[in-house]
Amino acid sequence: MSASAVTGADVVRWIELYASTIAENKGYLTELDSAIGDADHGSNMNRGMNAVVEKIGDDPGDDIGGLLKTVGMTLVSKVGGAGGPLYGTLFMQMGAATAGKSELSVEDWSAALQAALKGVKARGKAEPGDKTMIDALTPAAEALSKAAAQSTSFTDALKAAESAAEEGMKATIPLVARKGRASYLGERSAGHQDPGATSTYLLMKTASEVLGSSSD
Ligand code: ADP
Ligand code: MG
Repeated sequence: MSASAVTGADVVRWIELYASTIAENKGYLTELDSAIGDADHGSNMNRGMNAVVEKIGDDPGDDIGGLLKTVGMTLVSKVGGAGGPLYGTLFMQMGAATAGKSELSVEDWSAALQAALKGVKARGKAEPGDKTMIDALTPAAEALSKAAAQSTSFTDALKAAESAAEEGMKATIPLVARKGRASYLGERSAGHQDPGATSTYLLMKTASEVLGSSSD
């Protein structure tokens, strides 16, 4: 492991940790979705991530872009509703941004997250403040860009992205939903944390746990 990059094997470990974290938080995510949606976000994400782990098998991660693309395509094919296509897009765009790479620098990681954000916004047409996963993904991608521009260590960059995503997630509580099922509730959606922003925070948290500790 070099001092300032993550390998494909690290990315595989990240995906696996995300899958087990989703499994642990399945009930919590479903509870959040039962308040403002249809109580399936935990089971949707869990089904998708189980399929992903099975699909990637013992992929050594020599082509990080190809690996992430497979993750995204598997989510699209296995998960219905809004979550599947949106998380599918997130991973497919990260894959496109990292095509052919066997190691990622903090700049590569930041560029991949920016591509993911752009893709999810294009797909779901949500903007920050609409009470969606975009509210966690936007500050995380911004924190990473800032860290990359300042040549911050990978560890600190990922921690900054995790904290930013956590703040963004918590900030969805008072918001009135303007996209997705929660928007059907109008004002009654206020006072509840968005499930998708929560699963996106977990994505950034697990990245920090796995990639941060291994990269420097
Ligand atoms: P569904 O809403 O179809 O039941 P999920 O429950 O799996 O799908 O996912 C719900 C989450 O998807 C929401 O909490 C929100 O974060 C996210 N979401 C819904 N619509 C959009 C959208 N248009 N853009 C971005 N994220 C969205
Ligand atoms: Mg739902």
